Amino acid sequence: MASKSSLHVGEEVSLQDLNTLRVPSIARWFCHVESEVDIEAAISFVKNRQCPVLILGGGSNLVLPTYFDGLVIHMALKGRQILEETETSVSVALAAGENWHQSVLWSVRQGYSGIENLALIPGTVGAAPIQNIGAYGVELDSIFENLEGMDLNSGQRCRMMKADCRFAYRDSIFKNAYRDRILITKVVLRLHKRPQLVLDYPVLAEFLADKDIRSLGPQQVADAVIAIRRRKLPDPAEIPNAGSFFKNPIVSAQTHQRLLDAEPDLVSYPQPDGQFKLAAGWLLDRAGWKGLDINGIAMHDKQALILTNRKRQSGKALLQFADKICANIRQRFGVQLEIEPRVFDQC
Ligand code: FAD
Ligand code: NAP
Repeated sequence: MASKSSLHVGEEVSLQDLNTLRVPSIARWFCHVESEVDIEAAISFVKNRQCPVLILGGGSNLVLPTYFDGLVIHMALKGRQILEETETSVSVALAAGENWHQSVLWSVRQGYSGIENLALIPGTVGAAPIQNIGAYGVELDSIFENLEGMDLNSGQRCRMMKADCRFAYRDSIFKNAYRDRILITKVVLRLHKRPQLVLDYPVLAEFLADKDIRSLGPQQVADAVIAIRRRKLPDPAEIPNAGSFFKNPIVSAQTHQRLLDAEPDLVSYPQPDGQFKLAAGWLLDRAGWKGLDINGIAMHDKQALILTNRKRQSGKALLQFADKICANIRQRFGVQLEIEPRVFDQC
């Protein structure tokens, strides 16, 4: 037990039900943090033992090691608050342990817009900035105002504005220089009070094609996104997965042309800087990985980018499977895939 707090630190705790890939994993120490006092107690626990720390949200974007020899801090801070309103926008503070999808539903119920395309993404609010979550043409940074957290190096509270977070495609400073350094406690979003809908993502546009655009608000768009996602993406409660297992590679115009010459039906998207984003799911499908099951590990048969783990294999087994895929894609297309979820050296 940590001192001066009611924080309970468990020992040798299973994380298998706390990660959506259902990887068997044990934490040497584990605690839920529900308040700032709990967080301070957890930080002094780590300081006293000089042990590694892992901040865990919904466990939907990581491949856990069999044993984590440190403290797992399970983020459970709750609360939503409207901070400030103007005629056209509203600033909303969400505690890091709030469920992301429930926060989207709450926002659209108030009629706020900007967040609706990000419905049904699993996980917590506090993890959303880590990879600048994105879907259906919208990324978190378009509505992000700032975040608050604790700097685990200094033990000080901190506030980071959008520019500080270095958001990029499925990336931020928290996956790089600040990895495991900032424990995010609160995220502040700036939402629109009048609908500002992003409807140009092809499958969304198609789904809403027969609707009168004037009748659409954030709720209808969120409903459409939820329906589209449910028909294609595996529900982690039924089939263990962590969403897209690989990032869509960004390649030079030259590489893109070489690939296009060999594969005229290549799926790719031009980027503002002249490079091209390749649909990694298409590469995997073309290389024959879609639906191919090896010992219960497979790339999903409806979306080849999603690695599924029906037999609840270890993180090590998943990464060996991913290595095979990466080698095959490199050899076949000369393109290096990068794993999207957080992976651990100890896997
Ligand atoms: P976790 O998996 O618990 O943690 C992920 C990383 O964030 C870890 O490094 C962890 O240490 C860190 N972290 C978590 N909380 C905090 C905190 N409070 N402070 C500091 N660090 C923290 N992602 C998308 O971008 N778009 C999608 O459309 C999408 N769809 C998905 C669909 C499915 C079916 C699944 C399973 C996943 C999908 N994902 C998607 C990936 C995932 O849901 C998101 O990345 C999500 O933000 C992860 O949240 P989490 O709370 O589960 O994070
Ligand atoms: P999809 O619609 O089948 O499209 C395949 C890929 O093509 C997507 O990754 C998407 O890139 C890209 N794409 C499609 N149309 C595009 C356009 N007009 N401009 C630029 N890029 C375009 O993808 P899906 O698998 O069904 O997923 C739908 C959305 O949910 C995507 O935005 C995807 O990122 C998101 N999603 C993410 C995860 C995750 O874990 N990260 C899991 C499931 C779904 P983008 O990925 O850049 O959008």
